[in-house]
Amino acid sequence: MGKRKLSTRAARIPASPTVAIAARAKELKAKGVDVISFSIGEPDFDTPEIIKEAAIRAIREGFTKYTPAAGIPELREAIVKKLASDNGLEYDSSHVIVSSGGKQVIHHALQVLCGLRDEVIVPAPYWVSYPAQVELAGGKTVIVNTGEAQRFKATPQQLEQAVTPQSKVLILNSPSNPTGMAYSREELERIAELAVRRRLWVISDEIYEKIVYDGTRHVSIASLGRKIKERTIVVNGVSKAFAMTGWRIGYAAGDKDIITAMTKMQSQTTTHPCSIAQKAAAAALSGDVPEVRMMVEEFARRRSFIVKRLNSFAGFSCLEPDGAFYAFPRVCDWYGKEVGGEKVQNSVEMARVLLEYARVAVVPGAGFGADEHVRFSYAASMERIKEGMRRVEGILK
Ligand code: PLP
Repeated sequence: MGKRKLSTRAARIPASPTVAIAARAKELKAKGVDVISFSIGEPDFDTPEIIKEAAIRAIREGFTKYTPAAGIPELREAIVKKLASDNGLEYDSSHVIVSSGGKQVIHHALQVLCGLRDEVIVPAPYWVSYPAQVELAGGKTVIVNTGEAQRFKATPQQLEQAVTPQSKVLILNSPSNPTGMAYSREELERIAELAVRRRLWVISDEIYEKIVYDGTRHVSIASLGRKIKERTIVVNGVSKAFAMTGWRIGYAAGDKDIITAMTKMQSQTTTHPCSIAQKAAAAALSGDVPEVRMMVEEFARRRSFIVKRLNSFAGFSCLEPDGAFYAFPRVCDWYGKEVGGEKVQNSVEMARVLLEYARVAVVPGAGFGADEHVRFSYAASMERIKEGMRRVEGILK
């Protein structure tokens, strides 16, 4: 008997449930069909000029060689200052690693924290990559389901019930993709108490921290006391805040042994993130970038509009998100009924029908562990959002 081509690890990586829909949207666009995309997970703004200039300067000055594995000192220092001024967190740069995006940071963190069969607690709805990355690390994802009634936020009681002797890590994401919800200081204090008492490591994904609305204040769980800070790996990056998704820069701060292990993992895999992008990220984090406020103001306008429109549709209900750029309406009142002449039974079918008959691309909630919902990203112009809402309304009538 020949050896199998793929490792069991490769075979375990789940296919994204959105692949078929994304492929169909592409096919339609290639045929010249005007598809309105609400499926994008990145700001629709350009990277601010001052950041681009820093990268161009880096190239001109020949800053095009290997850098230290954990990232250039200039950027790590800028991160240290940012964490102190924005989040009230004191670290020195030996506690900081820079990687190719927040996604890689979380991957490294799970690889070094999570051993075979260790359990990682993940509140749902969750960002799609968490369970896949836990799986890749050989761990077991323990899902804690939350719903609209609790504004999609896990309660300490629910988390407590999920803890077993195998529990190792809790992943928190505030503000959240896909729900947009942010945990308050009081909520985080109670979760921090639990994490310390039950000796959980917390991976706190704060990538949407800058994109918050209506006076919502982002709080990092690590800032709530020495003990929780010691147990938290703070994850952040420049992708969302500075419209820099393609530059691939994310970072983490936390326990020195863990950061050192993550740096070793990085040095044996990708070595370090792109030298030029590191210079650009240092410029983003060091200066005042007024475009960030402008983007957030524009997102806020779109959010009010899209949430109001979604709530006006029969069978849709949508909470007002605290942050990020996603609306996450519950659409399951339609399941078992016809939309655009076809019966839909779940979020994947709902997304497919919206694409086929309304020419609108959304992401099915199933991929986020919430099949009752679909996700609309409002990283699209107001005109496109208005037209998209007209189309959805049209097929729901
Ligand atoms: N965390 C969350 C919740 C996200 O939504 C994303 C991107 O979509 C990331 C992390 C990773 O972002 P990046 O790898 O671009 O830094």
